[in-house]
Amino acid sequence: MISEQKKCTIGIIKQIQMKQEDLPDNYPILPCPRCGGEMEKKIAHNALSRRADIYICSICGTDEAIMDFKRREDKVEDWAIFSGGEEG
Ligand SMILES: [Zn+2]
Repeated sequence: MISEQKKCTIGIIKQIQMKQEDLPDNYPILPCPRCGGEMEKKIAHNALSRRADIYICSICGTDEAIMDFKRREDKVEDWAIFSGGEEG
């Protein structure tokens, strides 16, 4: 189960991602929440995660599809946004 705090973080990221295309060109884009890698500015050019209702980079999208194919569950808890930093 995903904790309420993580659901909240995902909700915030989703809101930012939905507004990303309206930002000026020189504005920094959120990194991929799953791997910390680069994302496309056009949000629809990235991949919608099968684990959470937010976009991840296309490499991660492919990776999740492979995990599903192998019937292996990769957890949201293991994503880059939830690793390192403060506890909790
Ligand atoms: Zn990624």
